[in-house]
Amino acid sequence: MGDWFQTLVDTEATPEEAQELAAHVLDWLIADGFVAAERTDCVLGADAGHAPGTRYGEAVQDPDPELAKLWSNGLQITVERTVFDAGQGEPSAVTCPHCAAEMPLVDAYWSPIEETWARFADAVGSWAEGDDEPVACPSCGRTAPVHTWLWADDYFAFGHLGFTFWNWPALRPEFVADFARRLGGHRTVLLEGKL
Ligand SMILES: [Zn+2]
Repeated sequence: MGDWFQTLVDTEATPEEAQELAAHVLDWLIADGFVAAERTDCVLGADAGHAPGTRYGEAVQDPDPELAKLWSNGLQITVERTVFDAGQGEPSAVTCPHCAAEMPLVDAYWSPIEETWARFADAVGSWAEGDDEPVACPSCGRTAPVHTWLWADDYFAFGHLGFTFWNWPALRPEFVADFARRLGGHRTVLLEGKL
């Protein structure tokens, strides 16, 4: 058994606007009953989060009555420069934003291909600290900051604002679209993973 999560990452919010956007979206989620107003111990990645609200079922495709019984069932909001990742597993491939060459990062047995991964590891590891390390493409030779590469399966998302729903059933596409609108139409990535 593990804990499943979905994280909606706003990949365009600036550090300056992230806090305000987080508060704006949280107001909506509380007002519409998707999450509870009070902060409680109900998330895995932070001290406190917001438990599912009375109308949480309208945000998901297939409401699970058991969710209320789980300890980790809340919404966790991250306002911080973060490399969000899908937890278990490996990114399967990455694509150059200049020439669209795709580089596999795992072999046929899903083992990481170390020499390709080594090209990205430092840049991924240091992005959260404020670096924008360029990575050179072996195909076209041009460089691009690591957060502009396209990660297969949305394994990584780089941003300053993320909303993580712990153990919620799959979010409804309409809910996700509404969410993105309230983030000012910013580009969002819905990352799904397991711990
Ligand atoms: Zn390239």
